[in-house]
Amino acid sequence: MGETDRRFTLFSESEGTVSLLGRSARKSRKRFGGVLQRYFLLDIGWSSITDRMPVLEQVMLVASFWEIIEDWDRVRHADYLLEMAVNLFPQPGPKPRAFEALYSGIRSLALGEPPGAVVARTEAAMLSTAGWGPNLGGCKVCGTNQAGTFRFIVPEGVLACPGCPGISGAPLSLGAVKTWRALQSSSPSVLGRIRLAEPILSELREVIRKYVEHCIGRPLRSLGSR
Ligand SMILES: [Zn+2]
Repeated sequence: MGETDRRFTLFSESEGTVSLLGRSARKSRKRFGGVLQRYFLLDIGWSSITDRMPVLEQVMLVASFWEIIEDWDRVRHADYLLEMAVNLFPQPGPKPRAFEALYSGIRSLALGEPPGAVVARTEAAMLSTAGWGPNLGGCKVCGTNQAGTFRFIVPEGVLACPGCPGISGAPLSLGAVKTWRALQSSSPSVLGRIRLAEPILSELREVIRKYVEHCIGRPLRSLGSR
């Protein structure tokens, strides 16, 4: 890697997470038309040689979601979505559903939708796409799906009811369980129409984020420490 080169990490529809070498990208911003920024949807082409980092050859701006930078809270949440996508889908290969969830989340943030609801929706969609979707059907011990407040057992991604003691977990109300269920079983077009009202949203955000970090195996940086 030369002094004027830069390394870019992108989340792509066709290959998932890709790290690319941008030759002379540091020397001249014009080299790639100045479009290698976060929150841009790009059409990119690269070349690869075995055992070498692939080289970015061409890049075209398709859509900009630059409105995100007008608001610090949107920036934090957009960065969190990018960080989550890269970490939940580290394997190469086509990622059309994860890409769609990320794209929809970034676009919603740019349009000014409340970041908390956008992130909860995207988290639920990405977890189920990645195969990490928790089992929210009922208590893992007795099977009941009728309880005022369940406990969500983060390491297992399952629920326990108050009548089955002995397992500790994060409290999750029936309303929050039902909302999470709806979020993870809905198609992207329906997802945006699911209403996420406080206080269920804040309850859900807390638990989903713990679970995302458990699935990834470490805390994510973008939203800071809890
Ligand atoms: Zn039970």
